Amino acid sequence: MRSTQIRSTFLDFFTSRGHRHVPSSPLIPSDPTLLLANAGMNQFKPYFLGEVTPEYPRATTIQKCARTSDIDNVGRTNRHATFFEMMGNFSFGDYFKADAIAYAWELLTQGYNLEKDRLWITVHQDDDEAEQLWRKIGVPAERIQRLGADNFWDMGVPGPCGPSSELNYDRGPAFGREGGPAVDGERYVEIWNLVFMQSMRGEDDDGTFPILGDLAQQSIDTGLGLDRLAAILQGVENVCSTDLLLPTLTTVQELAGRDYPGSGSGGEEKVSFQVVSEHARSIAYLIADGVLPAKDGRGYVLRRLMRRAIRHARMLGIDQPVLAPATASVIANLGDVWPELADQASLIEQVVTVEEESFTRTLTQGTRLLNAAITRSRSSRSTALTGDTAFELHDTYGFPVELTIEAARDAGLAVDEDRFTALLAEQQKRAKAGGKAKTAEALRHQDAYRELSSRHGRTDFTGYDRLDTEATVL
Ligand code: ATP
Ligand code: MG
Ligand code: MG
Ligand code: MG
Repeated sequence: MRSTQIRSTFLDFFTSRGHRHVPSSPLIPSDPTLLLANAGMNQFKPYFLGEVTPEYPRATTIQKCARTSDIDNVGRTNRHATFFEMMGNFSFGDYFKADAIAYAWELLTQGYNLEKDRLWITVHQDDDEAEQLWRKIGVPAERIQRLGADNFWDMGVPGPCGPSSELNYDRGPAFGREGGPAVDGERYVEIWNLVFMQSMRGEDDDGTFPILGDLAQQSIDTGLGLDRLAAILQGVENVCSTDLLLPTLTTVQELAGRDYPGSGSGGEEKVSFQVVSEHARSIAYLIADGVLPAKDGRGYVLRRLMRRAIRHARMLGIDQPVLAPATASVIANLGDVWPELADQASLIEQVVTVEEESFTRTLTQGTRLLNAAITRSRSSRSTALTGDTAFELHDTYGFPVELTIEAARDAGLAVDEDRFTALLAEQQKRAKAGGKAKTAEALRHQDAYRELSSRHGRTDFTGYDRLDTEATVL
């Protein structure tokens, strides 16, 4: 089943059951506590908190999500992407657990024709009711597992919370160990999370959020990963080989002048192919929604994705520009479904081109220094790169520390991150005291971005005081 049909099947199913189709919110959320949209429920938070009464009791969406926290998983698991589409159905004080479970089961087994015997269910350890409902629907006890914190959801603030239940698909022994989702997430892929908001957390003087009791108005929030479902329905190994990303993977293969290693093989080269293709999609969507490269905040998320993609492209031997053709293929493939991509095609091209030119210079100089440092560490039998080296790379060459860490890891070395952090803090203190001395290079790029942003409008992030978990991984 093509991804267009997966989307329409989902939306038709829920709209014909009384759900209002609400468009995806932009990746830049209106919620100042959130760096980037990372779940379908984000835009409905005021409804769940009871701050605003919705016009409709049920909604369905296909939400653009960004999760930088999964960046290291890309290419290393088959199921994680930094950008993905989350399909969801929501009930605001309307239907609850029994219907949410029945809908999910019906859609997966009849709408998408997934084999019942391959579906495994997790429920929260205390949620007897959910387990009973699954049993009634026909899931045998041996395919229902109880989990702890993984199957409990809250917002990390006083407000609604509750147990969740997840539907997982068994991809078979080629993908991992037997024993259900509690044992192996690659074999038993989590595809759909159902959250049952049934309790209320308050706030204690000591800063904890104890559960106060049951909510008067119970709600439902669910998220079904389009990319994962597409991989299953299209019978491909991972999200990069679905029709969502395959054209981009093909472009990267053409640029590299060689083939992507097939299923079950490939090692680091395969990781690089996936990183370049997958990040290209995130980059295109972020820029289309108004994110521009910057030193911090969401602009830094974008920059980090671009630099990581460029580095992996060079590792594949692609010496010519990669981001412009790779993002162009994303736009060509997905611009019909997500018109903002097509509308912003020229901005995307300009931003990635400026960044790639600048980072390519950085990379050439930085890589030389980095390789020398790696050789030195090895010959002195050290197991780590010094924090001073990481800092010099960062400070003199603008080499992101994550890349240093990654390159060191590839060479079997750690990085003294504590020392790096200390040096960075010292430098920031100095910069604050003495005003910032900018290099000619930094000024030139600042001008380039300023010009781009004045033409296309810019966005500011205001949530530094209350960052969500996505932000803490930066
Ligand atoms: P996982 O445990 O596999 O990391 P999750 O529990 O973090 O997933 P949820 O927050 O429950 O994911 O999100 C709902 C659904 O969104 C998941 O069941 C999955 O189908 C999809 N999803 C989550 N993270 C990703 C990702 N990084 N890439 C692609 N799809 C994802
Ligand atoms: Mg996760
Ligand atoms: Mg999970
Ligand atoms: Mg989950």
